[in-house]
Amino acid sequence: MTDASPTVVLVTGGSGLVGKGIEHVINTEPEGSRFGKQPNETWIFATSSEADLRDPEQTRKLFDKYKPTHVIHLAAMVGGLFKNMKYKLTFLRDNVLMNDNVLHTACERKTQKVISCLSTCVFPDKVEYPLDETKIHLGPPHSSNFGYAHAKRMVDVQNHAYKEEFGCNFTSAIPTNVFGPHDNFDLEGAHVIPALIHKCYLAKKNNTPFIVAGTGKPLRQFIYSYDLAKLFIWQLREYDDVEPVILSVGEDEEVSIKDVADAIVKAVDFKGEYAFDTTRADGQFRKPASNKKLLELMGGFEFTPFDQALEASVKWFLDNYNNART
Ligand code: NDP
Repeated sequence: MTDASPTVVLVTGGSGLVGKGIEHVINTEPEGSRFGKQPNETWIFATSSEADLRDPEQTRKLFDKYKPTHVIHLAAMVGGLFKNMKYKLTFLRDNVLMNDNVLHTACERKTQKVISCLSTCVFPDKVEYPLDETKIHLGPPHSSNFGYAHAKRMVDVQNHAYKEEFGCNFTSAIPTNVFGPHDNFDLEGAHVIPALIHKCYLAKKNNTPFIVAGTGKPLRQFIYSYDLAKLFIWQLREYDDVEPVILSVGEDEEVSIKDVADAIVKAVDFKGEYAFDTTRADGQFRKPASNKKLLELMGGFEFTPFDQALEASVKWFLDNYNNART
C-alpha cells in the first residue's frame, strides 16, 4: 500500500467497538498523515445488516459490491467470560464460518491483503509469560472460552495455508482487552470495563452500592479503541508478513481491576457505597503480553494515558446511553 493506486479498504465489523474506532481515526486524523485517510483510499465500514458473513453467498455479494483491494476483518461473535462460557458452540461455529467465508472470498477475488483479528485470550491457558506472537499454539486454551479461542487460532493456520498454497498476503492482529466509545455495555455479555461503567452508572442512578466482583487485584492490559485503530492502520499500510502482531500497551502498563473501578467511580462521579465482592472468582492474576515486536517495527507509539481514555469512554456512554448497546 505504498503507491497511489486506488485502494478500497473494507472493514468488516464496521459497527463494532474496534470498527468505529478505525472510522473515527480515519475521519479525524489529517488527510495524508500516517494514520489519516490517503487521497487514493476509499474506506467501507460494513455491518451484519448489509451481509451476514456466516453466509458464503452474502459474503461474495459484499465483495462484489465494493471490490475491496484490502480488508480489515473484525466481524466476530464477541463477548465477556459469561457469554463465552454459555455459548461455546455458537462462538466456535459463527466465527469459523465468518472467517472461512471472508478469507476464501478474498482469495477467490484476489484481494491484495487481509488483516484478521485474533485476541490475547486465545493463547494457551498454561504458558510462560509474557505472551508473544510465537506462543499461540503451544497448548490448549482456557476451558471457559475454548470455542472462541479455537475459531480464532484457526485464522492463523488458514493465513499460513493461504500463503503457502495460493501466495495470499493474509495476516492477523492480536489485540489485548479493548475499550472505548461504541463498546458493548450489555451487563450480561460485556467485557470488564464496559460492564463496570454500566454497573456504576446504574448504582448512581438507583442510589445503590457499586459492587465489583472479585478482589480487584488482577492485572490486565487495556488498549483504547482509538489507539488500536491507529495500530491497525499502521499494520495495513506498513506490515507485510503472515505472522501475527500483538497490538497492545506495554507490560509495564498493566492496570488492576481496582484501578479500573476507581477510575470509573471518579469519571461517573459516583459518591455512594463502593465495595469488592471477594466471594466471586478473580480469574487469572495476570497474563501479560509483550508489545516488543510492534514497537520495534513501528519505531515507537504514544498510547493515550489510561485515565484519559477511560474518562472519554465514560463520557461517551453517558452522552449516548439511549443508543448504546446496553
Ligand atoms: P463488537 O462486538 O463491538 O462488534 C462486532 C462486529 O461484528 C459488529 O460490527 C457486528 O455487526 C459484526 N458481526 C457480528 N456478527 C456478524 C455476522 N454474522 N456477519 C457480519 N458481521 C457480524 O466487537 P469488537 O469491535 O469488540 O471486536 C472486533 C474484533 O476484535 C473481533 O474480531 C474480536 O474478536 C476482536 N477483539 C476484541 C477485543 C475486545 O476487547 N473487544 C479484544 C481482542 C480482540 P452488527 O453490529 O451489524 O451486528
